[in-house]
Amino acid sequence: MTQRTVAEDLARSLPTTSFVAGKWEPLSTSKAFDVETFDVIDPVTEQVLTTVTEADETVLDRAVTAAHDALDSGEWGRMDGAARGELLHAFADLLQQRSEDFADLESLEVGKPGIEPRVIDLPQAVATFRHYAGWADKLTGQSIPTPGYMGRPTLSYTVREPIGVVAAITPWNSPTMIASWKIAPALAAGCAVILKPPEDAPLTSLLLAELADQAGLPAGVLSVLPGRGAATGRLLTEHPGIDKISFTGSPETGHLVATAALRGFRPTTLELGGKSPQIVFADADLDAAADGVALGVFANQGQVCAAGSRILVARSIHDEFVDRLAARAAAVVPGDPFEPGTTMGALINARQLDRVLGYVEAGKAEGARLVTGGGRPDRSGFFVQPTLFADASNTMTIAREEIFGPVGTIIAFDTDDEAVALANDSAYALAATLWTPDVSRAHTLARRVRAGAVAVNGWSPLDPRLPWGGSGRSGQGRELGLAGLEANTHLKTITVVL
Ligand code: NAD
Repeated sequence: MTQRTVAEDLARSLPTTSFVAGKWEPLSTSKAFDVETFDVIDPVTEQVLTTVTEADETVLDRAVTAAHDALDSGEWGRMDGAARGELLHAFADLLQQRSEDFADLESLEVGKPGIEPRVIDLPQAVATFRHYAGWADKLTGQSIPTPGYMGRPTLSYTVREPIGVVAAITPWNSPTMIASWKIAPALAAGCAVILKPPEDAPLTSLLLAELADQAGLPAGVLSVLPGRGAATGRLLTEHPGIDKISFTGSPETGHLVATAALRGFRPTTLELGGKSPQIVFADADLDAAADGVALGVFANQGQVCAAGSRILVARSIHDEFVDRLAARAAAVVPGDPFEPGTTMGALINARQLDRVLGYVEAGKAEGARLVTGGGRPDRSGFFVQPTLFADASNTMTIAREEIFGPVGTIIAFDTDDEAVALANDSAYALAATLWTPDVSRAHTLARRVRAGAVAVNGWSPLDPRLPWGGSGRSGQGRELGLAGLEANTHLKTITVVL
């Protein structure tokens, strides 16, 4: 058996319904009610991997009721932080033990080369559960001195309370890791979570539901409701029993989610897209920068919110850098994620393929120079060649819009001020990378560049301890770190008049 067939068998063996109140919805019931199903397509073979039953309003109602029961009258609501931390550690242990299965499923459903989930997604997901396992018993408030009340002394203090039932809506590009970013802090804070995984890649989230059961999470604390965005996703955002929505996805959907949330006065965390600059200064280590920029453009086929797809290069080193980057692109090996040697997989679906090829045409039409790529390799699957445009301007469509494919746009600059102005001239503000050994320049410009996270001499370092998020079209609020924990709490002030 090849690793691919092992992964395909695993995909077919997973439950294909919703996980609600600690149980899988029976398939037969779903069929009797003529519930909708959707196919999960392998982006490499273009074949159906499995067919999943969509969660409808009835299933959602049950999940919301189970979540409130767990919080309001079940053991979860009474459990102390240390005990919640133990459960999160148990979850992390199981995730670690099943890492190979998760990695295989993620390669299969997303089309990413096997190395990526093994060095990024799964280690990050496990680390996120462990990080928040440690926070669960450290949610503290403050005591705040005041002059008192009507001449009497007071004792005032704050406490952090769970925000309630959190709807977690995730995208297909890193489904395991991003689900962990939402589930782990919410559970650490004592919330219950209803996860709506992406319809293109729901399999790893179904496996997460199995782990919830095995880890001993009380029924209703984590439900997983697969379904399409316009159906299950929309219902979730409109359900009055949801207390907070944590969404990662496109700005367009983010706007719909935020509008629905606002109608119910529900807070949101929105992690949306990006058009992140990577600025290569003349004094940069050009080989290190070329490696890092190539990673930032081509990792996960460019389907990364933090993709460093706007490559700003000092004019004095421009031509030399473009040559080095083109050599990196030429060394990329597109192919089946399960074949050894593959360094780039397929795009998620046919729509994404058309969208990326459309941007390539726009780049050519607007006068950018195609350095390399731009087409499809001669094989089946939703593949696009690693693509670089040079001689571009920041006003071109390929510099302004998120492509979410392996396409880099190179723009020359003359001065540091111009580099900062170009970097900041974007509707997005998620991440930025500076390539320079000059610490004064690095620290000064890191403060001037508009982004939620700035990295120097390394593309997008990830760690659950580091807050992550953007502003503008990139979203609002933060995940990860203490900020990501507190985003799942209400801050309550208590004053005792003594
Ligand atoms: P998408 O917006 O199409 O879908 C994201 C999720 O929202 C999916 O689960 C989908 O089913 C659901 N959805 C769709 N319509 C909905 C609706 N009307 N109501 C509620 N839910 C709905 O995004 P995508 O194509 O899956 O992911 C790509 C986008 O995600 C890119 O823009 C990318 O930059 C962004 N992203 C951001 C981050 C980040 O941390 N900032 C991380 C990963 C991806």
